[in-house]
Amino acid sequence: MRFYFLTLFPEIFETYFQTGMIGRGVKAGLIEYTVINIRDFSGNKHHKVDDSPYGGGAGMVMAAPPIVNALKSITNYQDYPVVYLTPGGKPFEQKDGVALAAHPGLIFICGHYEGIDQRVIDGYVDLEFSVGDYVLTGGELPALTLADAIARHIPGFLGNCDSLAEESFESHLLEYPHYTKPREFEGQEVPEVLLSGNHAEIKKWRKQKAEDRTREKRPDLFEKYKFEKSLH
Ligand code: SAM
Repeated sequence: MRFYFLTLFPEIFETYFQTGMIGRGVKAGLIEYTVINIRDFSGNKHHKVDDSPYGGGAGMVMAAPPIVNALKSITNYQDYPVVYLTPGGKPFEQKDGVALAAHPGLIFICGHYEGIDQRVIDGYVDLEFSVGDYVLTGGELPALTLADAIARHIPGFLGNCDSLAEESFESHLLEYPHYTKPREFEGQEVPEVLLSGNHAEIKKWRKQKAEDRTREKRPDLFEKYKFEKSLH
């Protein structure tokens, strides 16, 4: 899969795609990425890409022509979903990551200032996603957040498929707690059942912990879990 990022700050992306599991995915050829500087498509000698809003008000708005020209510089851009990151978008969820991982390419538009001209959204954007109910200074971190969450669902990206199946948000449950060595840490012991070697008991304990955690921390999610359970 190839991720395209339309941005005013291309330097943000390089380290991320060279590091950790995402870096490994790039080296393995599972992930490719192209970073496009919207400023290169400003069409003016001062590389200006923003302007004051029609109707007045605070802040600047990213103008449509540079963004659309940057988008059209991508060969076959019409073949890929165009995603705009915005606090006004649908909250991004695990299931969106699963669905988007099926595409051969995705284009992210990273906004700045007050956001982008609505005509870009109306004319070119397929999906609008938010990463939460708070406002960031730009769309680069949200775009990387989505790219990371999507990459994990690319076949072959995670060695162990079980780790995906048991993760938080799969089947509307948060994941159970994890422990590793040492067996005792600052007076806290690893729960006995995890040392028992009894896999049926361990499975039961983990399920119970996942349910307890979800009920306590995310009652909204727990309601969905209960509803789906009642259907089966
Ligand atoms: N004026 C906008 C509003 O109130 O909705 C906020 C603009 S914000 C300062 C600049 C850019 O950051 C946005 O265009 C968007 O690309 C990105 N951004 C900020 N918060 C975000 C969030 N929670 N989710 C996704 N993108 C966000």
